[in-house]
This record gives sequence, C-alpha cells and structure tokens, in this order.
Amino acid sequence: MNESVRTDVDFDALLKRTRLASTPEDSEACLPEIMRALESVAAPGDRARLLICRARVRSFQSLDREACEDAAAAMTLFEMVGDTELALDAASLGAAHASLLGNVSLASELATKSILGLDLVSDDRLRMEITNRLGIFCYYYLDYDRAVEQFEFSLAAAERLGDGERVCRELYNIADALLLGSQQQRMSHVGIDIDRLERAEAVARRLLLEETALVNPRLGNYRLLADVLCELGRVEDALQVLDEFRNEANAITPATQYGDLAWVEARCLRLAGRVEEALAAAHRDVRIIETSEDEHDLMLSLEELAACEEAAGDLKSALAHTREVKGHMWAIHQRQTRQLVQQVWGAVEMERDHRSLQTQASEATRSAEEDALTGIGNRRLLERFLNEETARETELACIIADIDSFKEINDTFGHDVGDAVLRQIGQLLSSKTRTGQLAIRYGGDEFVIALPGVDLAGAYGFAERLRLAISGLDWTAVAPGIRVTASLGVACGPAKDWHVAVTAADGRLLAAKRRGRNVVVTASSIALSA
Ligand code: GH3
Ligand code: MG
Repeated sequence: MNESVRTDVDFDALLKRTRLASTPEDSEACLPEIMRALESVAAPGDRARLLICRARVRSFQSLDREACEDAAAAMTLFEMVGDTELALDAASLGAAHASLLGNVSLASELATKSILGLDLVSDDRLRMEITNRLGIFCYYYLDYDRAVEQFEFSLAAAERLGDGERVCRELYNIADALLLGSQQQRMSHVGIDIDRLERAEAVARRLLLEETALVNPRLGNYRLLADVLCELGRVEDALQVLDEFRNEANAITPATQYGDLAWVEARCLRLAGRVEEALAAAHRDVRIIETSEDEHDLMLSLEELAACEEAAGDLKSALAHTREVKGHMWAIHQRQTRQLVQQVWGAVEMERDHRSLQTQASEATRSAEEDALTGIGNRRLLERFLNEETARETELACIIADIDSFKEINDTFGHDVGDAVLRQIGQLLSSKTRTGQLAIRYGGDEFVIALPGVDLAGAYGFAERLRLAISGLDWTAVAPGIRVTASLGVACGPAKDWHVAVTAADGRLLAAKRRGRNVVVTASSIALSA
C-alpha cells in the first residue's frame, strides 16, 4: 500500500509546492501541513520528504540554521532509503546554508557530495537548484570565478525551463559574483578587470529588462548596477542610477537593501569628492547593517566609513574603524581555524564510539558463547562453528565425551571438587584440539569435540588418545584418591547435516556406557577398546 495514502499526506504535492514557491508567503503556507505530518509520519523516506520541504520553507524565511539542520537530516534519511536524487537535493541545500552559517566543515562535506552526484542528475529543475547552491557555496568561500560558473549552469537550466524568476535570480548572482571577483582582484592589487566588469554591467542591465518585481525588488538590481558602474570608475553614471531609483524604495524593501544602497552611495560620493555627504551615507549604512547579523557586510560598511573619514581628514576615527574591521577579521579567521580542530575531535569521538560498540558487540557474542565454569565454548559456539564449517567441509567427525559416574564424584568429594574436575577436563579437551577443530561443554558432564574433515578411523584414534589422557590425569592437587574416566561416542556424517552426526555420536556414547564405561564406541557400534 502506498505510504502517502495511509498517512493522508500527499508528499509529491508538498514537494512540488515547496519547490515551486516563489514568495515567502507561498512557501510558509505549506508549513502547518508539514509540521502536522511530521508528528505522525515515521517511515524514513516520508520523513525525509517532509524535512526537505521544511528546509525549503526555512530557507525562504532565512532561518539558515534550521534549514541546514533539516536538509542534513533529510539527506541522511534519503541516503538510507537509497533515493539518490533527493539526497543530492538535500545535500546541496544543506551545503548552501552551512556556507551562510560559516560552518566550513559541514559545507565542504555536503558540497563534495553535491558535486560528485551532479553528473548523475538529468532533471533540469534539480540541476538548476544544485548548481545555484554550489554557486552560493563558492561565493561564500570567495571563489567568485567558480561561483559565476555554477550560476551560469543554473541560469542555462532556468532558461531551458522558461522559469523567469530563477533566470532573474541567476542574472543577479552572476553580476554580483563578477563584481565581487573584480573587487577582490583590485584589493589584491592585480588591477581593474575591465572585461569582467563590463560583463557584469551587461548582465545587470539585462536583469533590469527581465526582472520580475516580486523576487528581485528593483532597488536591489539598480544598486547592483550602480555598484558595477562605480567599480568601473563611472561614478557620475552610478550616482545618476541611484538618484533615478531612490524613490522606488518602499515599505517592503528589506532594510539591508537600504544599507547596501547607502554603501554604494557613500563610495560614489567619496570618489566624486563629496566627502561630507559620503560620510553621512557611510554612517547611515553602518547603523542599518549593525542591526543585521552579517559580519561580512558590517566589515565592508566599516571599511567604507573609515575610507570616508580618512578622506575627511578624521584619521583618528578612520583608524578606530579600521581596527574594528581587523577585530572582526581575526574573529572570523580564528573561528574558522578552530573548526578544523573541532572537526578532528568530532571525528575521533565518532570513531571511538564506533570501536567501543564493536568491542561491546564482540564481547557480548563471546560471553554468550562461553561456558562460565570451564571457560571453554558452549553449545551456542558449537552451533555457530558447525553452521560456518558446513560451508567449507563436506565431512564431519563428532566425538561426545561424558564423565563416568560423575554423580558419585560429586557425592563423595563434594560439588567443588566436581567443578574442578569439569574445569580440568574441559581445558584438557580444548588443549588437544587444533585450529579448525572445536571442543565445547555441551552441558552437565558432557563434552562435544567437532573434527571437520576427519574420517571415522582418524576420529576414533583421536577419541582413544583423549580417553587415555583423561584417565591418566593427575588429581592429587584436587582430591587425593579420586579416579576420573570418561566414555566417548564417535560418529561421522555429512557436514551440512551435522545434527545427524551429533545424534549418532550420542547414541554411541550410550552404547559405551552400556559396555561398562571408560571406552570409545564408534558408529559401527563395536567397542574398539575397553
Ligand atoms: P554416567 O557414568 O552414566 O554418566 O553417570 P553420571 O553420574 O555421570 O551421570 P549423570 O548424568 O546422572 O550425572 C551427571 C551429574 O553431573 C549430575 C549433576 O549433578 C552433575 N553436574 C551437572 N552440572 C554440574 C556442575 O556444573 N558442577 C558439578 N559439580 N556437577 C554437575
Ligand atoms: Mg556422566
């Protein structure tokens, strides 16, 4: 029966709704159903579907930590049930959010999985999402060239799908990554990369033509174009773009966009020599960005503020703000470096847990298969041994040894002496067997010796040597005057029907008792010694 019928949750519909949602409201509308279903659904594949749906909603709500946790948990479950495509979907979503959170080790682990799995994905929508998330991963770890490459893959898939909103998303990402890539070069004193910036300008202009107001508020897109123009040194063009569209800012524009706008404005004004206005814009930017938790943006804002202060001749404030930037840099660097150590310790802890579980498991098996009194194996070990042995050997010889009149020994010398006798005989039998053979205590005063691949004559000879060794044991240290002998039954049979050989040997043992004890009887039922 289909799981979705049984639980009344239409997983496919939910997956589709959360995947296609293009506004936070559309996405959030799915949340109550997901939460309700998570309370009752237990099957791993279904839980994974719900978790990735919730991860997508959280992603829209910019709840990076929650989105990351849900995505990573969904990925593990999808891998468990063998759903590779959805596992990749979840891994890439987790990678993007882990990058946003600055969790380097998790981000790189999930990104590696996503990159490796991407070749196997043929579905364009999934390719579009995975490459977008890999682009975010590269972007956050400052490899802008790779980020552009990934966003371009995503753009191509979005164009094939005719998904206008995603086309705009990728155009924005590409222009932004091209811009940051050339800023990175400028800061490394490589020089201005005009080609790259002109590509960024072309993409930003195309974005303004194609944009859909809902996903890409115009303000953000004009800010991006102004930023590119400013980087190109066309400060007046940039200021004009900002002036033109300043009035478009409205109540639904996110505060950080006002911050970004103020940042470009400050930079343009400073480069245009309008220092006082630049300072005011830079202060406005810092105030806005301080309320967000984006440490990188704050560093950029403080840096621009310091540059404006320097231009205004206020070197004291410029130095203070530069120091503040340095403080943030150190904090980020130290946090990321420490993560490596944490990762090593985490891995060690997991390996330790794994090993200790293995040790516990093998210890539990060992003690379950050991006879507590004699320290040799018990019936359970015999069964496992014979089951495994049947795969290797065709023939099996079985000897059952039973101490003669053991009850009398107990009665005459006491139970402790009886125990000592059992221990010593167990050790003797065990010491006489070679690798690939087994002696165990079957119960009471009865022992079984299994000899795979040994024929009846060989087993008889072995049993006879055991009988002599038992009767020749020196018991003076245990109880003077005690005499211990054993009777032994021997049988051979096909290894795969080992029960038959054991039962036959038991029959021979009875015959040996009837024949007067301290004797070996083989399958021929003829007493071969006395
Ligand atoms: P037979 O020659 O016919 O084998 O005579 P038997 O007395 O050995 O026969 P039986 O099977 O009646 O006696 C086995 C005795 O082994 C009975 C039981 O009390 C004793 N026994 C079983 N387990 C233990 C143990 O762990 N320790 C001690 N000391 N005695 C045990
Ligand atoms: Mg006995």
